[in-house]
This record gives sequence, structure tokens and C-alpha cells, in this order.
Amino acid sequence: MSNVTSDEEVDVAIIGAGPSGLTSAIKAVTQDVEVFVFEEHKTIGLPTHCAGLVSVKGFKKLGFHPPSNVVLNRVRGAIFFSPSGHSFVVEREKEQAYVLDRVLFDQFLALNAERKGVKIKLGCKVDSVSVGKKKVFVKLVEEDKKRDIAAKVLIDAEGVRSTISRKLGFSTPQALLPAVQFEMINVDVDVDFVELYFGRKIAPGFFAWVIPTSDNSARVGLAAKNRPLDLLKRFIKRHELVSNRLGRGKIARIIGGTVITGGPISRTWRSRILLVGDVAGQVKPTTGGGIILGSLCSAIAGKVAGKFVREKLPVDVLSTYEKTWRKLFDKEFKSMKLLRKFLNILPDKTLDKLFLYISRYDFNEDIARFGDMDFQFKTILKSLTNFKALSIIFLTSLSQFL
Ligand SMILES: Cc1cc2nc3c(=O)[nH]c(=O)nc-3n(C[C@H](O)[C@H](O)[C@H](O)COP(=O)(O)OP(=O)(O)OC[C@H]3O[C@@H](n4cnc5c(N)ncnc54)[C@H](O)[C@@H]3O)c2cc1C
Repeated sequence: MSNVTSDEEVDVAIIGAGPSGLTSAIKAVTQDVEVFVFEEHKTIGLPTHCAGLVSVKGFKKLGFHPPSNVVLNRVRGAIFFSPSGHSFVVEREKEQAYVLDRVLFDQFLALNAERKGVKIKLGCKVDSVSVGKKKVFVKLVEEDKKRDIAAKVLIDAEGVRSTISRKLGFSTPQALLPAVQFEMINVDVDVDFVELYFGRKIAPGFFAWVIPTSDNSARVGLAAKNRPLDLLKRFIKRHELVSNRLGRGKIARIIGGTVITGGPISRTWRSRILLVGDVAGQVKPTTGGGIILGSLCSAIAGKVAGKFVREKLPVDVLSTYEKTWRKLFDKEFKSMKLLRKFLNILPDKTLDKLFLYISRYDFNEDIARFGDMDFQFKTILKSLTNFKALSIIFLTSLSQFL
């Protein structure tokens, strides 16, 4: 890992060596510019705050698949449980999602970035940033020593905490939910299926998850409006479909974090600054998953920033980043945000009826016919009492959970 001298000027500076910062770095460096990533922690990937469930389809869009040492498990479906325990299964023959070791995944990205020429500076915190006419000035703190560098453009990938972006006057991600997850061993789980539990008493505002990492270990967690730790303990000890399978398991590790359900912030670039990933709210409001969409947006930012430096383009060119990701994904984010709101207002009784209805009928033909997202959301508004329409909307949106 590399050194930057105090009065050095770099082409592209990046805050944070998470998936978003590293993806931007890889794309920027392939434009033949000098890229530095500053990461406050001394080890890439730690501390983790993730369930590591990432769709195979998503990786296809990113243009690579994670190496086998990073993949703990592969699931081919999900079982959805209503508040009172009605369930249905969505399954495919082939694997649908990877369960990743997030530390190894981030380290794999970092190694890849370094091989391409990115300089990663660990244990180096970005303390503050100010924007000049021709440069961005970055104050770094490393082992209690402060020093300054300048960059032609800065990509902020600092994650949900948003300390630097807030100081720069950007808005912050909304509808944040506290989350807790236990890494459990000696539990009884089906290695092929993720389990998702809905209900206001289980996880108000979100859901609880059981993600198998092997046939006797799992990540068990939930996000909720408040008290996620109490709710998670109660879920494991008292839920009648869970307690006998998980209740006697051992908790190997506890992690906490913040899930973003409010969608992207209103503006993700200004002057020489681009915001990517969690700090920009580029996370699925339905599931809290940010690895794929965050990385897809970060790749655009890296490419735009690299080209801006290499071709010495005017600053306004950086707006291409926001224009491009909004064109590609804004509709998707908006639909998911609406669906999240819709799920949040559905009373438990309605969810129960919906799950029961779905578990009894075969919707495959209808889903193929009404699979279009625009159709879904016009339908939601018109058909809150029509169970068939509701079921179709719900089922067509399930692809987002895998
Ligand atoms: C409980 C939980 C479960 C989740 N499960 C999933 C899941 O299953 N699938 C999925 O796709 N997503 C999941 N997510 C979301 C996912 O973890 C995030 O979307 C993803 O980590 C965002 O990546 P990022 O690079 O934007 O931010 P981060 O991964 O948070 O990386 C930001 C980096 O910036 C560094 N940093 C911050 N400030 C500074 C500074 N001032 N100077 C230097 N470095 C700094 C941090 O140390 C960190 O390394 C989950 C989130 C939570 C909370």
C-alpha cells in the first residue's frame, strides 16, 4: 500500500475503500490517470456491516463474478413468511444469489485495483475537503499527523455516515433504519434458501432475514424502526417457525449497521466532487442492498472522472455522471421506493391474506404478462383491494430480494 507526499497533487482522490470507492478507482485508473484511495481503517473490509447476499444477475451487469474463495454459499431461492407464518417459495433450478464473505470480497476488489495501478492508503482518514477553482484540497490524518494534498477531482465513497459530504453541503440519505445481524453456528437451515420474515411485530418498516452460509450456519438479522437488537433476540427465541431451529445456536459474531430505504439523494455531484454508493443513497429501498446498484453507479463516476482528467475537460463534464446513472437507474430506484412505502403501510392482516392467496395460486402466466414495472405501480394505486393484482405486484417485485 502506497505513500503520498505532503505537497503532492493527485489526479483522482477517492474517500473510502468499500465496494463503491474501489469500483470507481478501477474504472478511473483504466483511463490512464493517477488514482489514490484513502481508507481510514487499517484493514480493507473491516469492520463489516453487511449480509453479503448479492444476485448473480447483478454481478453479470457488473461484468465479473466473485472468485470462489469469496463465495461462502450459493442460494437458488427464497422463502417468504407472512406475520402469522403463511409462506411461499420462489425458486429456480440454478443459483440465484451468492452469499459473500464481505471482507474477502472487498479485499479482492482492492487487490484488483492495486494490480491495475490504483494506490490505496490505509489508516488514512480524510478529515476535511474544500473545493477551489482548479483543485480540491484534502486534509488527511494519518497516525495523528495531519497533511494536505490536492486533487483534480474527488470521489466521495465514504458510506452512509456522510460526514464529509454533509460538510460540503450535500443532502444525506433518508429513511435510515438501524440493523443488527448475528453470525450463528450450529443452526438448522436449508442451505439452498434464504428466509425472509415480514410483519410489524417482527421488524417494523423492514423484514428479518436468515441467510445460510453453510448447512449449519447462517446470518440472522433484521432492520427495524427501533430496538433491532431486542427484536432480533425475540425473533430467534420466540418465533414459532424459527426458535427450534435457531434458538439453541451459538452467536459467533454480532454486527450492526444502517440500512438505507429512502433512495438516492437529490444531487450527487457539484463542482469537482462526485458522490457514489451509500453516501449517495444508491441502495435498493426494498431490500437495503447496495453492492450492485452502488457499484454500477460508482463505475460510471470512475469513468467520467478519469476521462475528465485525461482529456482536461471543463468541470461541467462531471455532470455526465449524474445524468447517466439517473437515466439508467432512477426509474428503478423510484419504483422500489414506492414499493417500500407500499409494504410499510400494508397492515399485517392484509399481508397474511396476501401470502395465503399467493401460496394457493399459480401466477406464472400473469407475472409474465404483467411483468412491466410501470404497469405494476399504476396498478398498485388502482387495486389495493384486488388481491390478484396485489399478488402479481408483490411477486413481480420479489426478484429484488434475490
Ligand atoms: C446490516 C446490513 C446488511 C446489508 N446486507 C446487504 C446485502 O446482503 N447485500 C447488499 O448488496 N447490500 C447489503 N447492505 C448494504 C451494503 O453493505 C452497502 O450498500 C455497501 O457496503 C455500500 O458500499 P460503499 O462502498 O458505498 O460504503 P462502505 O462499504 O460503507 O464503505 C465506505 C468506506 O469508507 C471508509 N471511510 C468513511 N469515511 C472515511 C474518511 N473520512 N476517510 C477515509 N475513509 C473513510 C469506511 O471506513 C469504509 O471502508 C447491507 C447493509 C447493512 C447495514
